[in-house]
Amino acid sequence: MKILMAAAELSPYAKVGGLADAVSGLSKALAAEGHVVRICLPYYGEGSNLQNGGEGSEKVFEAELPLRPSRKVKLRVRPSPEPLDALVLVDEPLLFSRAGIYGDPATGQGYEDNGERFLVFSAAAAAAASLFRHLDGFTPDVVHCHDHQTGLVPAFLRHGAAGLRPEAPVGTVFTIHNLGYQGVHGADLFARTGLDSHLMRPLGPLEFHGKMNLMKAGIALSDRITTVSPTYAEEICTPELGEGLDGLLRERRGSLIGILNGVETEVWDPATDRLIPFRYTPGNLAGKGKDRKALLEAFQFSGTGPGTPVLGMISRLAPQKGFDLLLQAIDAIMEMDLRLVILGAGDEEYRRGLTEALRRHPDRLGLRIGFDERLAHLIEAGSDMFVMPSRYEPCGLNQMYSLRYGSVPLVRATGGLADTVVDMDEDPPRANGFVFRQYLALELVKTVRRAVRAFGDRKSWKELMRRGMETDFSWNRSAARYLEVYKAAAAEARRAA
Ligand code: ADP
Repeated sequence: MKILMAAAELSPYAKVGGLADAVSGLSKALAAEGHVVRICLPYYGEGSNLQNGGEGSEKVFEAELPLRPSRKVKLRVRPSPEPLDALVLVDEPLLFSRAGIYGDPATGQGYEDNGERFLVFSAAAAAAASLFRHLDGFTPDVVHCHDHQTGLVPAFLRHGAAGLRPEAPVGTVFTIHNLGYQGVHGADLFARTGLDSHLMRPLGPLEFHGKMNLMKAGIALSDRITTVSPTYAEEICTPELGEGLDGLLRERRGSLIGILNGVETEVWDPATDRLIPFRYTPGNLAGKGKDRKALLEAFQFSGTGPGTPVLGMISRLAPQKGFDLLLQAIDAIMEMDLRLVILGAGDEEYRRGLTEALRRHPDRLGLRIGFDERLAHLIEAGSDMFVMPSRYEPCGLNQMYSLRYGSVPLVRATGGLADTVVDMDEDPPRANGFVFRQYLALELVKTVRRAVRAFGDRKSWKELMRRGMETDFSWNRSAARYLEVYKAAAAEARRAA
């Protein structure tokens, strides 16, 4: 099949969270099976690693997007390292050549013109789906759009002006990576799309309480919808986690499926990981002990003995991730004989709360505020346990990395966490971690206590680690399921045409 991916993030170029890893991992797994995969993303500025590497190898096309008023962009087609076919970079320096992806890294504030930025990006991605037919013969069977930044792509492909609507039918698949971020913009932005006003009538596919909702557009107008775990697919159809779109999702339930993200094992494998000081395997854990030492040194906890568990956390500092719970629980957790190291970037409120907790517990708590890929790998390798008390978690990648790195996950049963972690006391023969259900600080404390106690039994702990490390979370299995969705979407588009 020929597949055009459209996404605002792609590892290793532009990453804020799991979206970047998922787009990269899925695309490579599909390409390795012989499918032709192009990935369309904005041509971001300095710091994205995109500014270098194109010299001489890129073909650059000018496209005039039929928006109101029209807008010129360049599409840079850059041959991509095997197995991918190419990157299609949407070059519009005024919109994309900035320090951040969604907002100013210095202040954490989202850019005010994100509506315009992703409107232009989506139109460019739609144009890319038809343009290359004449330029180099690339005619996608499917356009796979990821999250609200690409929510208008299906609308343009189906209802857009000439130049955005491909000549041959193309299936559209829209993946919800996180329903908590929907891209809701003032209705005035709709006039820029050039789309027919019926799409924006009250309760229409783009309208949301008088505004324009890009996530809703993607859900309403694509042939198939996926999300990143089976449990999250159920949860988003309920008022509790449906974020106001549960009604529409229930309507489209027959076209919605949950497919668990995979782990990109080229990047996340303790046997080959170049970012950790010592490598190791399930059969030989000596390297993990040394990584643990390196991690403890990095946080000035050198004297910590092997009987004291090291707990790790790597996360966006956002309400979704359970930091309010952690901050309520932290004094009780710090009474236990353990070390907790946290790496995170994000909301000021949590930064402040964690910094204050650090002041109260400097000998047990370690904190790094910022985005640090290398330290993230060291924490996965060097910690004994990994904590994810999420309020909701569409898939969650870190618990899967943790399983692979023998860092036993301690999670709240929600979304992908519920689909991947089995509790030690609930199902001992299948267990790979610790799970709590109710979103309560007390439950988190109790679960940490249970895990710390279990850590004392070295033999059963090793068994727990081994089971996690041997689980297959590679992308191959999930890619095969996406392919079925692509076929269904392409067939649907042909039928409709
Ligand atoms: P989400 O996409 O909701 O942020 P995921 O668990 O799906 O959560 O993916 C998060 C990804 O981002 C993981 O690869 C994780 O290691 C990485 N990550 C998050 N915060 C940081 C940080 N401060 N430094 C380095 N990596 C981070």
